[in-house]
Amino acid sequence: MKNLMDRLSIGIVLVAEGYVFELERRGFLKAGPFVPEAVLEHPAAVAGLHEEFLRAGSDVVVACTYYGHRAKLQAVGKEDRLETLNVSALKLAKEAAEPFDALVAGNLSNTWEYDPAVSNSAAAVRAIFDEQVGWAVQEGADFIIAETFGHLGEARLALESIKAGGLPAVITFSPATGESCDGYSWENACQQLYDEGAEVVGLNCGNGPATMLPYLKKIRNQVGGHVAALPVPYRTTEDQPCFQKLKLPDQASAFPLSLDPFLLTRYEMADFALTARDMGINYIGICCGAGPHHVRAMAEALGRKPAAAKYSPDMSLHPIFGDKDTRTQHVECLLGPVEK
Ligand SMILES: [Zn+2]
Repeated sequence: MKNLMDRLSIGIVLVAEGYVFELERRGFLKAGPFVPEAVLEHPAAVAGLHEEFLRAGSDVVVACTYYGHRAKLQAVGKEDRLETLNVSALKLAKEAAEPFDALVAGNLSNTWEYDPAVSNSAAAVRAIFDEQVGWAVQEGADFIIAETFGHLGEARLALESIKAGGLPAVITFSPATGESCDGYSWENACQQLYDEGAEVVGLNCGNGPATMLPYLKKIRNQVGGHVAALPVPYRTTEDQPCFQKLKLPDQASAFPLSLDPFLLTRYEMADFALTARDMGINYIGICCGAGPHHVRAMAEALGRKPAAAKYSPDMSLHPIFGDKDTRTQHVECLLGPVEK
């Protein structure tokens, strides 16, 4: 079994994220707080989703601890279960990873508690990260993903905490706006984290491929190390560049519960994987909205044969799309007469 850096040195690491979003859709956690309570209340659902993404080709199991930090658990009255949630999530990830020889990632997120204008905010956020990193180290995570940051300052606190824990760090920003909340271009923010020791830097969540790629190009051109790219599988546009800004026809917000009409197909995500690869990005993945069908298509586009490829489509066996000469009267009834 190779570690993260070994795997990145020889090829692409494919990473399925978006567990919290998917568990909400499946009815195992509440939209709004989006705290990963499923780890405590429905561990089999979490383990099942891990297995689905692994069968689809993910090289990494991300422990379901996104928003599983002290401030979030306080907000839902479950602070007393903080350690249990984190330790259980890491154990579930490890158990799922083993049969697939996959890597286990601890998971930190932006806290919503960081405010550069408030004097003790950095110390409070650092304490939140330190305890989550501590549990990830204790449970044997291979590396830690710290993600969806808007501030370089907060991302830097996560990096310092992960480095203090002695694990490799993958740090990613969500580029909802043109620059970080503390005024850095995304490429400069990534460069700084890389200079300060992050093993992988880049972007995740927020933007779909169409509006993330222009930033990724700049980051790839500037940063010397490994770059991460994990968009959401949604059809974002120049006017509505991140999924938080997508609007339904009546101008209501599609985020976070009515995004279905904007979902990208598996083929569009496969195209994204190839585009990212051809740009020289080697930590490629998908975030909120991801389904195993997206992950499998991305894996296959990258030349992999994941376990779920056994059931990859074969339209030659479909009554409508198969051999024209053997089309039945029922198909012609549906589609009209076809030239044979
Ligand atoms: Zn996401």
